[in-house]
Amino acid sequence: MVKRQGGQGGQTVPTFKCVCETCSATFSAPLLSDAASFGEFIARGRNGKANAYLNSFEGGWDEVEKVWEKVREAHGSERDEPDELQAVIGRCLDPIDGEALSIDGGPVCPSCGSDRVAYGDATRTGEADLPPASFDRFLKLSPKERAKFIRGILEELDRIDEAEEA
Ligand SMILES: [Zn+2]
Repeated sequence: MVKRQGGQGGQTVPTFKCVCETCSATFSAPLLSDAASFGEFIARGRNGKANAYLNSFEGGWDEVEKVWEKVREAHGSERDEPDELQAVIGRCLDPIDGEALSIDGGPVCPSCGSDRVAYGDATRTGEADLPPASFDRFLKLSPKERAKFIRGILEELDRIDEAEEA
């Protein structure tokens, strides 16, 4: 169960034991229960340090999605739409302490930065108060700047896809 944290848009969520398959470090990471997770995400720092809570029905998700739909149409893309939207959303979130966030991956090892991590809800380690993930940086942009920002993300995703195909 996910319980609501008083009025700030964050959440208290259970944490579970994770094991890094690259460096064997063990650490705790927050996970949402399947029952609670429609429209809810944990935004994870790409270095495994920061975690935040994101509810797609609050904050700037809709604004990002609207711009993305238009830009995608003009840009052309063969990527699966939900996957692409999640990749875009993650990149539109405000970094936490300089760490970029992502909503489309599992826990990242805070020791070595690997995303080859074994995790599940077998061993509960406690709970974490997650701050709300925010889109302040994106929302401060003008409509033109927003479109340019999203276009830049789609170009980045194109480069990633090309590198994977090569
Ligand atoms: Zn590791």
